[in-house]
Parts: sequence; C-alpha cells; structure tokens
Amino acid sequence: MKILVTGGAGFIGSAVCRHLIGNTDHSAVNLDKLTYAASLSSLESIQDSPRYRFVKGDILDRELVRTLLRSHDIDAIMHLAAESHVDRSIDGPGDFISTNIVGTYALLEEARAYWSELSAERREAFRFHHISTDEVYGDLPLDDSLFTEDTPYAPSSPYSASKASSDHLANAWYHTYGLPVVLSNCSNNYGPFHFPEKLIPLVILNGLEGKHLPVYGRGENVRDWLFVEDHARALELVVTRGVPGRSYNIGGRNERSNLAVVETICDELDQLSPLANGQPRRSLIDFVTDRPGHDLRYAIDASRIERELGWKAQETFDTGLRRTVRWYLDNEAWWQPIRERYAGQRLGVKTAAR
Ligand code: NAD
Repeated sequence: MKILVTGGAGFIGSAVCRHLIGNTDHSAVNLDKLTYAASLSSLESIQDSPRYRFVKGDILDRELVRTLLRSHDIDAIMHLAAESHVDRSIDGPGDFISTNIVGTYALLEEARAYWSELSAERREAFRFHHISTDEVYGDLPLDDSLFTEDTPYAPSSPYSASKASSDHLANAWYHTYGLPVVLSNCSNNYGPFHFPEKLIPLVILNGLEGKHLPVYGRGENVRDWLFVEDHARALELVVTRGVPGRSYNIGGRNERSNLAVVETICDELDQLSPLANGQPRRSLIDFVTDRPGHDLRYAIDASRIERELGWKAQETFDTGLRRTVRWYLDNEAWWQPIRERYAGQRLGVKTAAR
C-alpha cells in the first residue's frame, strides 16, 4: 500500500513511519507541518529508504493534499496530524480547533474527491484511518469499568472535545458519502522519541538531572499505558484489515496511577544511574496544582482489536518502561537540543504550587 501519513514527524506518527518502512513492504509519504512537537531526527533511520518520502506542509493546505494524493497514487491515509497536548489546549484552544477539527474536515473532503475518481476495485480497497484517543469518552470512576467502542462520548478538555469532533466528522463521511473510514481510539502512549513535555519523558529527564518531579494533584489519576511500538503495529492492522465504518479501541491493559508511574521511573533511574549525592529520586516528587477538568481514570477494553484483528500488546508496562528509560539514557543527542530549545519553560506544568 502507498500510505499518506499525516503528522508523521510527531511521536506516534514517527513510530508508524519507522514501523511501515522497517517492518512491512508499504510505502509512506509523511505530510507534517513541523510544529514544536515534530522532530525529523526521529526519522533518521528511514530517511534514505526509497519507500519513504517527507513533505513539509499543512493538512489545511488543500491544494497540496490534492496534489500529493494523486502524484503518489495513494491507497490509504493514516491521519495522525493534530495538536495533542491537553495543557496547551487549556492555554490556547484555537490551534486545536483549526488543526484537529477544520484540518480533519479538509482532509476528509480531499480524500472523498480523490476516492471518487478511483477505479471500483481501488475505491473498495481505499481506507481513511482516523487516529484518535480514549479521552473522547470522558472519564471513569476508580473501579473496574472499561471504555468499549460503544461508550458514549463525553470529552472534558478542549483537546478531547476537538478529537471527539473529528471522530464524528470521520464517521459522518462514512455514513453520508460512503468514504471507507476506519477509526481507532487509543490510550496513553509512551516510549522512545516522546516529546519531553509529556509526563514520562519529563520525569525521566528531570529525574536524571536531579530536578523536581511535578505530579498533578495527589497523583491519583489513573491512565492505561501503551508502548508506542505496540500502537504502531495495531494501527497497521487497522488500516490494512479494519472494516470500514468500524472503530477499534487500543490499550495496553496497563492501568497505573500517575504517582505509581513516577515512582517506578524513580526506582528504575536509581538503579541505572544513581544521583551523585545518593538521594533517592522519590524525594524529588513535587505535588502541583491539579489541571482543571482533569479526568480521573481512563481504561480501555481492547478485546475487539484482539479478537477481530489478532493484535496483542507485546510490552508490559514494566518491560516497556525499562526500554524507555534506557533509551533516554542512551539518546541524549535526540532530547538535549529539544530541552535547550525550551529552556526556561517548565515543560508540562502549567501552575506549580505546593
Ligand atoms: P504529536 O503532538 O507528537 O505529533 C503531532 C504531529 O502533527 C507533529 O509532528 C506536528 O508537526 C503535526 N501537525 C500538527 N498540526 C499539523 C498540521 N496542521 N498539518 C500537518 N501536520 C501537523 O502527537 P502524537 O502524540 O504523536 O499523537 C498523534 C495522534 O495520535 C494525534 O491525533 C493524537 O490525538 C493521537 N493520540 C495520541 C495519544 C498519545 O498518547 N500521544 C494517544 C491516543 C491518540
């Protein structure tokens, strides 16, 4: 398949591109605007492949999208381009509305026009895969309930509301126009090449440097964590074998409170790279004012994708986290320039107060 990947220079998009080029025969055209969250150095391992092409551009540039679809004879679109950081959506929702909602609309319209020109056989095989989040479902109590594909949408933040909107648009283009849309909603990802403002890399890097480790509220919020390479494999299955009109929940069955995540990273770092003064990293934990509208718990029932597409996460949280911590220890050349670019900003923490 020749796949147009939008947002392929971001955290998950780059894992998808590396997976498609490294582990499959598919080709990838990566369309990315290169916002603050993008990093072309995450793609160095595949940049010389004849099956990979990078194009700098905006999904809102319909002329560009129109040309790319036709000049590369695209068979499927994997749409990951988005503004993705909840805290930033609280500070300034405008870009989230523009890229996540209007951008998805623009892409759906260009996909629909292109798809209508294809032969009957190629129309049948074409896929528009919209990649989304479990945050569209709102939150869960601290019990054993799970989000299924039938859970009603109840987004809380400007970010999740923008993703819920784009999910609805994608579904509407399937029901109204017959565009072969597949949708996936995934839990929190972590792993190599994760932008240092997100919780896990922030804690690893602050912990390495002996700096304070910010945790919202009392750290009780629970997330279901998935190793990014497991997500990339799931996405390939959804785009190649998913049934049009269907959505697939993807999760790692790895629920952890934020505090438990931070404590595990502290213990791992203490083993691999103890602080010079012998201080245990747990003593660096700093509870900061909670995020407004902070959902309590997310947890995914991934049984549909496991049953219908034969996917299963390969990493447990412990094995995936160990790989991630080691990756950050070994790849300072990737994260140091990003840390320097954002020096002075307290990445990932809006309001710090004890
Ligand atoms: P990211 O912020 O790391 O990457 C987003 C990429 O999109 C960046 O490279 C950015 O330059 C690009 N982009 C932004 N606006 C663009 C535009 N207008 N045109 C073209 N490119 C643009 O995000 P991520 O964490 O890799 O998430 C990717 C997708 O997966 C998003 O749609 C997100 O909602 C979804 N998702 C993320 C998670 C997670 O835990 N990170 C979980 C579930 C779903």
